[in-house]
Amino acid sequence: MARLELSNLHAEVAEGDEQILEGVDLEVQSGEIHALMGPNGSGKSTTAKVIAGHPAYEVTEGEVLLHLEDDEFGEDIEIDEDQRTWNLLDLEPNERAALGIFLGFQYPAEIEGVTMTNFLRTALNAKIEEREELFEDEDGEDEAEEDDEGFENSPMEGPADEGEVGVAEFQGILQEKMEQLEMDEKFAQRYLNAGFSGGEKKQNEVLQAAILEPSVAVLDEIDSGLDIDRLQDVSEGINALRDEQGTGILQITHYQRILDYVEPDHVHVMLDGQIAKSGGPELAEKLEDKGYDWVREDVYGTA
Ligand code: ADP
Ligand code: MG
Ligand code: MG
Repeated sequence: MARLELSNLHAEVAEGDEQILEGVDLEVQSGEIHALMGPNGSGKSTTAKVIAGHPAYEVTEGEVLLHLEDDEFGEDIEIDEDQRTWNLLDLEPNERAALGIFLGFQYPAEIEGVTMTNFLRTALNAKIEEREELFEDEDGEDEAEEDDEGFENSPMEGPADEGEVGVAEFQGILQEKMEQLEMDEKFAQRYLNAGFSGGEKKQNEVLQAAILEPSVAVLDEIDSGLDIDRLQDVSEGINALRDEQGTGILQITHYQRILDYVEPDHVHVMLDGQIAKSGGPELAEKLEDKGYDWVREDVYGTA
């Protein structure tokens, strides 16, 4: 069980002083689904990017904390008392990812000859390695260095190092996850980014989250541009992340539609860089009927 906690989060554009987030308070726990809604330009994507550590933004006030239980990573990692709370703002994006924060797939440029399978296995191994470093026993000897060589030059094809997931083992994991998501096996053999449709990219995003098993996944407008069949497939995948691996979901969306398929436990409405209103699923339905101006009126007394 993990809990992501944003408190009084203020952020501005790094190159300049335009304030975007003006005090965001939000808690997302493993196993919970939160919908973060709001009009265009209200700061939803910025919230996601600040959680992930995007360099375009500078945090000027507030905190982003991740609280871990001592059994967070199963038997792989022992978490000491003083390693239960992490200040994510002090950590690099890949360290945040290793601790269990997933921000949907920023599609890398097409890389010649790299299949989805290899890309996903590399991502998983990078996470495992980073996690080992973060939780490294300070008194213990560091075994990592001596057998690292060579691997760095061929990250996609290198032999499995200690603690890494090898090709054969990964095939098993991938197959299980793809079955769970009811994805076509051929997907994984395709080359990274080569000719994926919008819908397939979104499905890949869910697959990546299934492979990395994050504590909290931030999915930013994963519903945009999907036809109804794809929307249902993607939604089932998101529900599986929660049901099968206990991932907490922060589902950012402008529209109520996906919430018919991914039912949120909590709904938040962002206005002008703050969460102006929170509630249950009924809040999303009210927005569907009355629009965001109703929230503005309700909160500020004027639209
Ligand atoms: P949302 O995802 O809710 O539509 P964003 O978080 O993308 O909103 O943007 C919030 C506001 O901050 C918008 O007015 C947007 O133009 C501005 N903004 C976001 N990122 C940047 C940036 N890197 N540089 C300048 N302005 C930005
Ligand atoms: Mg600045
Ligand atoms: Mg956005």
